[in-house]
Amino acid sequence: MAGPLANRMRIGGAAAGCGPLIPPLSETTRPLRQQIFDRVRAAGQIARVQLAKELSISPASVTTLTSELIERGFLEEVQTPREADTGRGRPAVALRVRAAAHYVAGIKLSDREHTAVVVDFAGNLIAGETVARQPGAMQLAEIVAATEKLLDQLCLKAGLPREMLSAIGLGVPGFVDCPAGVVHWSPVLVDRHVPLAAAASRRLGLPVHIDNDANLVTLAELWFGAGRGLSDFAVVTIEHGVGMGFVINHRIFRGSQGMGMELGHTKVQLDGALCRCGQRGCLEAYVADYALVREAQTALNLTHRENQSVGALLESLFDHAKAGNAAARVIFHRAGRYLALGLSNVVNLFDPELIILSGERMRYDYLYAEETLAEMQAMMLNTGRQAPRIETHAWGDLLWAHGAAALALHEVSDGLLCPPREIAAQ
Ligand SMILES: [Zn+2]
Repeated sequence: MAGPLANRMRIGGAAAGCGPLIPPLSETTRPLRQQIFDRVRAAGQIARVQLAKELSISPASVTTLTSELIERGFLEEVQTPREADTGRGRPAVALRVRAAAHYVAGIKLSDREHTAVVVDFAGNLIAGETVARQPGAMQLAEIVAATEKLLDQLCLKAGLPREMLSAIGLGVPGFVDCPAGVVHWSPVLVDRHVPLAAAASRRLGLPVHIDNDANLVTLAELWFGAGRGLSDFAVVTIEHGVGMGFVINHRIFRGSQGMGMELGHTKVQLDGALCRCGQRGCLEAYVADYALVREAQTALNLTHRENQSVGALLESLFDHAKAGNAAARVIFHRAGRYLALGLSNVVNLFDPELIILSGERMRYDYLYAEETLAEMQAMMLNTGRQAPRIETHAWGDLLWAHGAAALALHEVSDGLLCPPREIAAQ
């Protein structure tokens, strides 16, 4: 074969190889000791023989690798009663994560309140804290100071000095480049392109990893919630904006530059309503709270007073709808139809097993009424298959902070078990 295609595809080239070129120690080829550690942490406790079976490796390899993990203080042995214990023989020995080996904090900054948790290396909750705040965007220095204050309160509650923490996971709403640690835009920050991770890390004297809030909820579901046993699922968050986190093959998907899955800014109307991002026709401009408020002000002649929060206006709109006000009902119904449109696009693109709807707005049950779900199904490809399960999850105060803690736990254990010098040495 000759011509441009052959050149581009290196067809027939000698020694070029074929198949995906996967870098050493990437997500798909994680070192065995890391896979063992992850499996022990996920199981709670597990026997060596079971690890060998699950990883298709020899019991001798498991013994060697787990000895190293025990020696380094990451795992410990635990005596377990044998199944159908007859009272004879030695008790069986299983492995578990040494919970006190490391502690991390997860912090979520938002417009209304900041929340935080401390968890140990096994993921057990040590303490949680919530502080209310005045809404509005802050300067970088202010937000870092607020983070430090919250962290100090949290450490006091947990009875742990800050130096005992190994890392912080920090979440903010908006466009966040997770690997670079940069917030390109957030409603809680005045400036754009803010190097939040580096600034917070300098101030707190600890490694800081940041992500957007939708990814944090998704991590919380993946590590602690309904997504633990699922390989492919979506979490759609609806509050001030519309966000989505997506798990593919048990791992969160962020896109090539950490900016993917912006469901709220997928276009549902050409030249449509103006969105916060500056473009027109975004899903968010029809579903998020500011969209509902904009319509409520017009339809119900509700005036947005300076001291009246968006939340209070929405509550008023919801009360009108419940009381049978036709205009208020139409507003929720229309938003629900747009949500159905967005969800059907997610299903047609990714075919998830489960979609979790999360966020305070999900209390407004008009948004996910039966008719909304029926509408979603009508817009899905008609192949006779079942629609994915849709669950609405209550808004736990500390859910997002738990997701931030999962981010920190992941970074700490990956950093310890796969140090950069080993990658460089490959
Ligand atoms: Zn937009």
